[in-house]
Amino acid sequence: MIGLILYAVAIYIIGGVAASITYHRMLTHRSIEVIPWFRKLLIILSLPAGTPIQWVGTHRQHHRYTDKLGDPHSPHIHGFWYAHCGWYIGQKNSLVCFIYAIAGPVRMWIDSWWRPRTNQHYNHLAKDIQKDPFCKWISQPLVYTCIMHMYLLILVGFSYYLWGAVGIGVTWLMLVLVYNIGDGVNSFGHLFGTNTHPHSEAKNNRILRYIAFGEGAHSYHHKHPHHTEIKDTDDSIDLGYLCIIFLKRIGLVLKTN
Ligand SMILES: [Zn+2]
Ligand SMILES: [Zn+2]
Repeated sequence: MIGLILYAVAIYIIGGVAASITYHRMLTHRSIEVIPWFRKLLIILSLPAGTPIQWVGTHRQHHRYTDKLGDPHSPHIHGFWYAHCGWYIGQKNSLVCFIYAIAGPVRMWIDSWWRPRTNQHYNHLAKDIQKDPFCKWISQPLVYTCIMHMYLLILVGFSYYLWGAVGIGVTWLMLVLVYNIGDGVNSFGHLFGTNTHPHSEAKNNRILRYIAFGEGAHSYHHKHPHHTEIKDTDDSIDLGYLCIIFLKRIGLVLKTN
């Protein structure tokens, strides 16, 4: 039982480190620098969130045109479901988006094909990432698809081998949770909460702040995209930043903003 709980916590932490620390703060906004081998490891762990080139390009476009025409995923322009997860698969139909949102490992399998092949319109905003030979190699459709299949095999096989059907159930649940928390920053994070940035609809959302590795202070982030710490009030906790401080103490993170 303890092993299963630790496994579930590990999926949650890797999901947070992947999207919030690696793709968002490190690659997109360059608000942290890490030592080279650790950078590669972080990028490999982050692949279920998409390819580094596509993720960074799309997010930079989101910052350029937040909640205006040109934003790739605004609930104010495209509706809730498209902003939440429909934009990955080009779907506005809420039932299709809902099924995709709860598909867990099946979503991962769909993504293994789609992510490196769709939503590539903003890759030109990630020229720095394209120049990185490792990021370029790992973003290739065939390489990406192979690694994602390996992930699926490890996740599903490992959990079934150790805990049987319950293990598969926990893997499914955790993947649904982690994917939707990340997607929630683009949807709920632009709809519910307080707004401290006059030029966007991004919100500081108390619940998202705690569950999404600090990313829920989203209005603050849109105002200060290059700040490593995403913190809208003195008493708010940025779990992602706490991890970064820990990684800095042990010498893996070299620089923060
Ligand atoms: Zn946003
Ligand atoms: Zn950002």
